[in-house]
Amino acid sequence: MDKKTPSRKSGERDVVIVGGGISGAALAFGLAGKGCKVTVLDAPTRTNMASRTNVGLIWCQSKFLHLPEYARWGFMSSRLFPELVRELEEISGLRVPVNFTGGLIPVLGAEDFQKRADYIVKLREALGEYRGAVIERGELEKKLPKIPFGPEVCGAAWCEEDGVIDPLALLRAYRAALPRLGAEYVETMVLDVTPHAGGYRVTTRNGDYFCRRLVLAAGLANRRFARFAVPDLPVYPDKGQVLLVERLPMVMPIPVLGATQTFGGTVIIGFKHERVGHDSGVVPASVATEGRWAMRVWPELAKKRLIRTWSGLRVMPEDNMAIYSRLPGHPQVSLINTHSAVTMAAAHSRLLPDFILGGELPETARGMTLKRFGFAC
Ligand SMILES: Cc1cc2nc3c(=O)[nH]c(=O)nc-3n(C[C@H](O)[C@H](O)[C@H](O)COP(=O)(O)OP(=O)(O)OC[C@H]3O[C@@H](n4cnc5c(N)ncnc54)[C@H](O)[C@@H]3O)c2cc1C
Repeated sequence: MDKKTPSRKSGERDVVIVGGGISGAALAFGLAGKGCKVTVLDAPTRTNMASRTNVGLIWCQSKFLHLPEYARWGFMSSRLFPELVRELEEISGLRVPVNFTGGLIPVLGAEDFQKRADYIVKLREALGEYRGAVIERGELEKKLPKIPFGPEVCGAAWCEEDGVIDPLALLRAYRAALPRLGAEYVETMVLDVTPHAGGYRVTTRNGDYFCRRLVLAAGLANRRFARFAVPDLPVYPDKGQVLLVERLPMVMPIPVLGATQTFGGTVIIGFKHERVGHDSGVVPASVATEGRWAMRVWPELAKKRLIRTWSGLRVMPEDNMAIYSRLPGHPQVSLINTHSAVTMAAAHSRLLPDFILGGELPETARGMTLKRFGFAC
């Protein structure tokens, strides 16, 4: 992306977004589509940013029983994806590989099978609707006939609303679409955000930006930038580590959580969540446990070459939900932090722009503000 000379004219842009990862880019796309003049300020590529290290699953199933609204929000996003991708491809001129085929979580052993089944019953009760089930091994084999599953695999949790997208292609397409919608994407390091003359000053390596409306979408760096209003933002780094297996013939038309074949044919192994501070280094002993799990599911992987390993830090709100909020005492500043920003990208593009521009959050997301942590906003 070109570096641009920053605009320094006060009030020229409607909204400045700090952070151009998947959350900031998705929001900017939605805002620009509404005719809003948006500037996205994003630090030059830092390889461990979650937006560039994730698996690309659009994943709604078997989670958030304790947070049914968040589960619903995920399903809403998944349903908005096909139309979003179509529009994104049209505007950006780029292809975004995506499969809306449903998703599978392999189940090892009868006990796990029963646990999954019970969970899905409860989830269906909580949500009122759930398009998924636990399936027996025979049915799993019909869905993925080219994968010789290990003997312990007795079935899978299946949800028809899951899918997978090429996450880097998604990010590229968002960014390519922005200038075509009149938005500005500027690669620059933001150093500070401060209230200024009834608006906000965003200090960057390339100069200052002034705006009336500001969005903080800088992942973990939101903790620092929100400090003028929230001294201790309740989010923490949640580490994910993955192994990458060499390119294989395409055998996985439906994504499998924990061992997902990419659109290029490689297989990404890993699904762990670790709370280990800001250390994003790969720990072989830790990532090996996931490799062993994957080999129990798909024993042939043991004969394949590992070609890479990496880790990334998710942004995890303390209660595992998302935060979409105005900052206390600063109704013109919104903040977005979520640990599943690929899954939620369609909701962010389609359902959040009105909130950023001063409207209400969609009903499903109303409980996701900072109020739940005791802040007045
Ligand atoms: C291993 C792994 C696998 C994952 N798999 C999935 C998955 O399959 N599906 C899913 O939905 N989610 C997945 N996630 C989570 C997902 O990647 C994150 O939810 C998402 O990346 C968060 O996006 P974000 O834009 O909010 O934050 P980030 O990705 O952290 O992006 C923040 C952006 O802010 C910018 N920034 C930071 N500091 C500054 C600064 N000072 N100045 C300017 N810009 C700044 C960064 O450059 C970056 O572009 C995974 C995460 C990991 C680590």
